[in-house]
This record gives sequence, structure tokens and C-alpha cells, in this order.
Amino acid sequence: MATDGSDPIPPHQTFDTILVLDFGSQYTHLITRRLRELNVYSEMLPCTQKIADLTWKPKGVILSGGPYSVYWDGAPHVDPAVFELNVPILGICYGLQEIAWKLDNKGVVAGEKREYGHAYLKVDRHGDGEAGGHVDKLFQGLEDNMEVWMSHGDKLSSIPKGFITVATTSNAPFAGIAHTEKKMYGIQFHPEVTHTPKGKVILKNFAVDICEAKTNWTMSQFVDQEIARIRALVGETGQVIGAVSGGVDSTVAAKLMKEAIGDRFHAVLVDNGVLRLNEAKQVKETLTAGLGINLTVVDASELFLGRLKGITDDPEKKRKVIGNTFIEVFQAEAKKIADAAHGSANEGEVEWLLQGTLYPDVIESISFKGPSATIKTHHNVGGLPASMKLKLIEPLRELFKDEVRELGTNLGIPEDLVWRHPFPGPGIAIRILGEVTAEQVRIAREADNIFIQEIKDAGLYRKISQAFAALLPVKAVGVMGDKRVHDQVIALRAVETSDFMTADWFPFDGEFLKRVSRRIVNEVDGVCRVVYDITSKPPGTIEME
Ligand code: GLN
Repeated sequence: MATDGSDPIPPHQTFDTILVLDFGSQYTHLITRRLRELNVYSEMLPCTQKIADLTWKPKGVILSGGPYSVYWDGAPHVDPAVFELNVPILGICYGLQEIAWKLDNKGVVAGEKREYGHAYLKVDRHGDGEAGGHVDKLFQGLEDNMEVWMSHGDKLSSIPKGFITVATTSNAPFAGIAHTEKKMYGIQFHPEVTHTPKGKVILKNFAVDICEAKTNWTMSQFVDQEIARIRALVGETGQVIGAVSGGVDSTVAAKLMKEAIGDRFHAVLVDNGVLRLNEAKQVKETLTAGLGINLTVVDASELFLGRLKGITDDPEKKRKVIGNTFIEVFQAEAKKIADAAHGSANEGEVEWLLQGTLYPDVIESISFKGPSATIKTHHNVGGLPASMKLKLIEPLRELFKDEVRELGTNLGIPEDLVWRHPFPGPGIAIRILGEVTAEQVRIAREADNIFIQEIKDAGLYRKISQAFAALLPVKAVGVMGDKRVHDQVIALRAVETSDFMTADWFPFDGEFLKRVSRRIVNEVDGVCRVVYDITSKPPGTIEME
């Protein structure tokens, strides 16, 4: 706990916050993201959230879509206290139906047919009653016939009492409704998806004009506050350790810690022998000379490679061996750091473990998955044993990946690192199919290095989400310098994806592939063929093992 008596302040205490209540739609997180893109802070909570348990007051509430029908037994319903919060409310799809269900004794029915796809929206205010000026605000600045995305089977059978219609489509007479007195709105379509091109204007109208939320959620605002929060949490003398990998998340988290508590943050890079070519050296340079982070590099490559020896069949085994060895090495190093800190005069105990958890991990663990689904407990990324008795510190847990990148840029982290492709914990061990030996590592590393270099030179690195070379331990025949060779095969993999859940292989042009293939066969000893993996995900995975 904070030693100076001040409590650490989470962003929803200082930034105007729009609360998104999640009914399990696959798009819910996009609502939060779009709001943040508008510089309005937003957080998501499950629809079952008890309003009395909220320790902060939102500026407005959005009820998300969801796969259920409000009239089902066991369908999720919002805590009615949300309607007493006295803040604007916007219901999207299921959220709209939920408003009607709660406020208008149940005017929701199954439609004759499902409506899925594009529709054209007519901004069309009509209905009974004297409406206040606020009803026109949701669609202000939007022209008629705007394209919207629909995905529903249920519909309102009537308009709830006190509401008027503000928008229609040919299929949905109540595509947009607004309460005549209260700032309460519902829309049948999804403004958060890109298939509703002007959807962001609607979210802005709601958050900024109707809720009057400040647009001050920027990474430069966040930095100062986060540093203050870390200081309050760790106190004057507390020590923190954390593993770094050279990836964007751990580097940004480490730099933030450095800014907050200086050398009382101890970063550890474990060289497991299966990092990329020259990676340990480069990470060390960037983090120490470049960013001033207090870093220890532990070269444990021989230990790792020794334990990987003989594992030829089961990729899971590789992952386990690497994971367990990592914990062992990291723990030993943490003990050394803790012992050293213990002996010094004005330094406290090492009590904290830094983790680069991001908001999507948090969302994953709290999103509403229905009455039967068990909510996943938050996963411990480093997988460190409880016996270490360290408290977690997660300075990025409110941020999306694009925000982490922006924060990284703000903190002066080099662009190259900020935009780095993801790299798996078990490293290139799972890109070497079959047994991992020092020689196989050399081949995979050199080929990968050429591929990535060529991608960068062609200006494609940021278009591609993840790329690497894998080594297939089969032997193919080739002719090199008039000599018959019998060598291994390199498979190139490059994919485009926005969320890593699905991915498409990247359509390189032939000349590019020709160049990479020529270079790899010529420059990497032990390779006589190069192939390009044209498998999408699904059914493939991004990594090969
Ligand atoms: N299940 C509801 C329907 O079919 C809501 C759908 C949604 O929120 N996308 O109408």
C-alpha cells in the first residue's frame, strides 16, 4: 500500500468516464475503443455490475449489444439503479431492447426476419409529446440516408412511454428513439463498427455533446498521472522487479517505471538462447544506453538449449520447458536483486512484480459470457509462482495496444521498437519445427533476419502484423555451384490482422519473394529451398507450433 498515505488514483477518478455495460456482444470493446479515439475515457464492466458497488460516477452509460433476447428466461438484465444515476444513457441493439423491456413493460418481440447487414437510416423525428432540444443531438450533423450496420432478430413492438422516434430504416420503424425529457436514447444499429461509417459521430454526439464528457484522454495527460499513481503505490523506498523481452509492452511498462521510481525498478532480460539474431545485445543497448533503465541481462542460453535437447515431437513440451526454465532463472535473479536491496541502507524490500497486462486481457476476464460461462480468472502473464509473494503492479492495464504505442512514442521509445511485431515467449524455438539445437537456431535466425530486413526495406513492416521465417527440418534436394545438395527448407510466414483472432497471409509481389528466397538460399548455410506459407487463420495458427 501507499506509504505516504495517499491512495493511487485510477483514471476513472480523474478523467470524465463513459461506462459501457457489456451484454456479451462481440463488438462491446469497440465502443470503448471508439470513445477513447475521440479522447473520451471509457471503461467496460459486465452488465451484471451492481451500481451501488461502483466507487465512481460515470458521465454517461452505454448499454451494449448482446446475443440474448431480453424476453428469454435467464436473459441478462441491467441493475435498475442505472436509470436512477441521473446521467445520459444510450442503448445499442440489445441495449435499446433492454431499455424498452425495463421501462415499457416488455415491448420487445421476435421480428419476422433477422436483419443482418447494411441499412439506410432516415433521421426522422416524429411521435407524440413535447420534446426537449436534447432529442435532436444524437444525430446532429448527420445527413439522411446514412449507412448503418444492423445485426438483430428482435425488435420493439411499440415505442416505450415517454419516448419518440428519431430515426427509421425501411425495416426498423424504431431504429432510433429518444426520451422526451430524460437524456435517454436507443439505437437498433451498431455505431461502433466500421460498417457504420459515420458511427463515430453518433458516439461523439452522445459522449461529448450529450454527456458533456471532457475530451482530455490523451497519453500525455495519462503519463503524469500514471507516474504519480505508481509512486503512491510503491512508496518512497519500495522496489519493483519485472521481466523485459524487448517487445513494446514490457519496454513501455519498464520505461514508465523508470520515470516513476528510477533505479528502484529492476528490469531483467533472460537470454533463453532462442531470441532473434543479436536481440539480447540490441535490447540491452536500447534499454540501458537509450532509455536509462536499470537492466540485468542473464545469459542462460546454454541452460535452455541443454533442456530443449532431444525434444523432437511435442511442441507443448518445448513451451513448458522454456516456461519453467524461465521462471527458475528469473526467480534466482529476483532473489539476488532482493538480497542486494535488503542489504542497502535506504532501499526497501522488493515487494512488487511489474506486469505488462493490457486492457484487452482485462476485458477478456470481465466480459459477460452468459449465465453458464465461468468468468476466466485474470491470467498471470509471466506465470510466476505464488511462492514469490510479490504484489502485482500493472501500469498498462487500462490501455489498448494502440494507446501503449502512443504512450511509448511519448516516452521517447524508438519507433522501431514501438512498432515491433509480436514475438512469442518461447521465441524461435517454436519456429524451428522438430528438435532445437544451436545449429538449427543459427539457421532460423539468419533466415528470419534477412526476411525482416527485406520487409523493412520494402516499406512493408507496418502493413504486416507479424512476419517470421520458420525452419522445416526436412531435407530437399538442390543444386548449388554444380553440386548436388541435400538441405533444409525455410518457410516464410507473414500475416495481416487487426486482432490476431483471424488473419490473412500477406500478398507479397513475386519480385519481393524472389529476392528474399535468393538471399536466404545464398547467404544461409544449410538451406536449399524457401517456401511461402499461404494458410489463413483459421484454419492455421499464426505461429507454426
Ligand atoms: N439478440 C438481440 C437481437 O437479435 C440483440 C442483438 C444485438 O445486440 N446485436 O435482436
